[in-house]
Amino acid sequence: MITLKSKDEIEKIRRAGQVVAECILRTAEQVKPGVTTLDLDRIAEEYIVSQGLRPAFKGYLGFRHTLCLSINEEVVHGIPSKKRVLKEGDILGIDCGAIYEGFYGDSARTVPCGPVGPEVQRLMDVTRESLDRGIEQMHPHKRLYDIGAAVQAHAEGQGFSVVKEYVGHGIGRALHEDPQVPNYGTPGTGMRLKEGMVLAIEPMVNLGGQETYILGDGWTVVTKDGSFSAHFEDTIAITEKGPEILTRLK
Ligand code: MG
Ligand code: MG
Repeated sequence: MITLKSKDEIEKIRRAGQVVAECILRTAEQVKPGVTTLDLDRIAEEYIVSQGLRPAFKGYLGFRHTLCLSINEEVVHGIPSKKRVLKEGDILGIDCGAIYEGFYGDSARTVPCGPVGPEVQRLMDVTRESLDRGIEQMHPHKRLYDIGAAVQAHAEGQGFSVVKEYVGHGIGRALHEDPQVPNYGTPGTGMRLKEGMVLAIEPMVNLGGQETYILGDGWTVVTKDGSFSAHFEDTIAITEKGPEILTRLK
């Protein structure tokens, strides 16, 4: 069931989203060689709690941390660990959610640890651009799969592949609500988008093939061919004027 959000509800999601955005920024500033992903998780948790919010992922389906931190060939859902030490040339996906007065915000960014090669930089740039192309479609009366079609056209047009097994989602009173929002699709198909829908759009784009699998920890999704993967996500409200991104700092 898809729930439309009132202006008041969107303001609560925005508050959650702004804390998530600031949290990702603060976490990203600490990404450097020698830092562990557990160190970063602590920084994030402390910040969210200091703002009077709750981390959204902690306790979700048994996940025990504030962030999902995914290095290099890890696509999403990497588990923070003191054994995972960042080194120069790594890329790190930082995925964060927070809850404010019962409403969720969800966002992700992929950042480099020191200098990275040009292909890897281009992977990150194109994934971010693909997210923006998807968001541009979020006007009332457009169709749901217009979003994924725009993401896919840009990412594949630049020679990368799009992960199909994991998708964007409605968000509000729950972290994951209907509808699912794939990062691929046929333009002009799917349900009509409506004012008051709030969706998390989150392209996952691989340097190599699209296939993935889940590691033995039950969480970490990795590319089958070991190629690097990037992930960018925003939470967006559809208004009569078009998309309003709730997880970018004003
Ligand atoms: Mg997320
Ligand atoms: Mg999400």
